Amino acid sequence: MKLAVYGPNIPGALQRKGTFHIHAADCADRKRRPWSEFDDSGEASWELDAADKVEVCDAVYTPGEFECRSGDYLYDFHFYPCCAALPIGELKPEGYYEEVAQ
Ligand SMILES: [Zn+2]
Repeated sequence: MKLAVYGPNIPGALQRKGTFHIHAADCADRKRRPWSEFDDSGEASWELDAADKVEVCDAVYTPGEFECRSGDYLYDFHFYPCCAALPIGELKPEGYYEEVAQ
């Protein structure tokens, strides 16, 4: 699923939902104003294609680059209802990303 990642500098109370906010890439909310989590340009921090929530989390907090394990920071992500079809997914075993990178 193609997704838009907002964060980590989401202003105001919205930040309490999580450091990173995730919308579907084609979500209509991305074009609405005003949304305090969007900057003036309305651009997401980045877009990515992910099969599940663990994959999103690991793309931001990649084990091996950060002191964490797969999915450790899932609590820090707020997935909007437009991402409801995205399953949680499975935590990757230790060393998974190091092997993929080789
Ligand atoms: Zn949305």
